[in-house]
Amino acid sequence: MKEFEARVLSCEACEEGGGFWTVLDQTCFFPEGGGQYADTGYLGETKVVDARERDGIVYHRTEAPLEPGKLVRGRIDWEERFEKMQQHTGEHIVSGLVHSRFGYNNVGFHLGSDYCTMDFDGPISPEELREIEWEANRAVALDLEVIVQYPSKEELGHMEYRSKIEIEGQVRIVSVPGYDVCACCAPHVDRTGEIGLIKLVNRMNYKGGERITMLCGFRALRDYDSKLTAAREIGALLCEKEDQIAGAVRRQKEELEKQKYENGRLMHQLLVFRAKEIPVEGSMTAVFTDDIRGDVPRELMNLLLERGAFICGVFAAAGDGGWRYVIGSRQADVRPLGKALNSRFEGRGGGKPGMVQGTLTGSEADIRAAAEGFIKGSGTEKGTE
Ligand SMILES: [Zn+2]
Repeated sequence: MKEFEARVLSCEACEEGGGFWTVLDQTCFFPEGGGQYADTGYLGETKVVDARERDGIVYHRTEAPLEPGKLVRGRIDWEERFEKMQQHTGEHIVSGLVHSRFGYNNVGFHLGSDYCTMDFDGPISPEELREIEWEANRAVALDLEVIVQYPSKEELGHMEYRSKIEIEGQVRIVSVPGYDVCACCAPHVDRTGEIGLIKLVNRMNYKGGERITMLCGFRALRDYDSKLTAAREIGALLCEKEDQIAGAVRRQKEELEKQKYENGRLMHQLLVFRAKEIPVEGSMTAVFTDDIRGDVPRELMNLLLERGAFICGVFAAAGDGGWRYVIGSRQADVRPLGKALNSRFEGRGGGKPGMVQGTLTGSEADIRAAAEGFIKGSGTEKGTE
């Protein structure tokens, strides 16, 4: 049923989450339950955003109040509901197959708006799962009737069926002949052919068993569509056939690693030449630059110290008007200099006697003058150590 007529019995404002709880004399809205979320749709012109069951009564969460006593036409969002029925019936087949082959139970089922997961209490290998997937799709191709029964307590006593919980009252048994018999309250498709493709898209270890993610029917089609689009785009970028893109990406990645290594080697060579052109006379060798980042400033500082710089500071423009600095010396303690610059130029940072690092805000001329002034004033000049 997609549509129905019903009389409004009651309507009260929801205490939480907004809207109104509307109760009807009959409904085909499936309330949240058994791992499946509730149907949405309309009662007249009023939107139904949720449905829940308490003590055998279905409460529809409506966006507006409905007048008790009034007749309303109910309509569920059939597209959404049908997709859920596809997922749910697919889940029965997969769970039934896993149960009969391995004896594992489905200990968790989640049917969300985007994907569906099921948890089994034992390990399944990728190869075994692939076999289960193919077997499940054979059940779809057979277009079997999905049978719903309401057996008496006595009949139930002789039946073999899967069930997650002890059920009180009337038990509803849903069977896919040859594949699964299970106690379930949720809506399913009439024939397995309606499920369409059953695709197990992911598996992960979960509490010593498996959590399997599944897509059925139209959801599987949408997934195929988006993956094909991505594969085509990647293929076009790499000038490769869609089924060859993994190898092409691997080769590109290897090539990139090689280039990165080569780039690093050339950068170092360039830095050696650059360091040779910088004069290292006087007490302080200060380099201000806007084209190096990462570890390179420190590398340049070390090259200049190797060439005999007494104290060396490399100031790399940080892009926000500030500088990232590294100051080092092989003879003097540079911590007091770092401290003095930090306090004068809103700086941060610190380090060891031989090297300090941090950030500063100020002009090149001011920082240069302040550093030289401090070195003179503190008596840490070259030749006085
Ligand atoms: Zn079910």
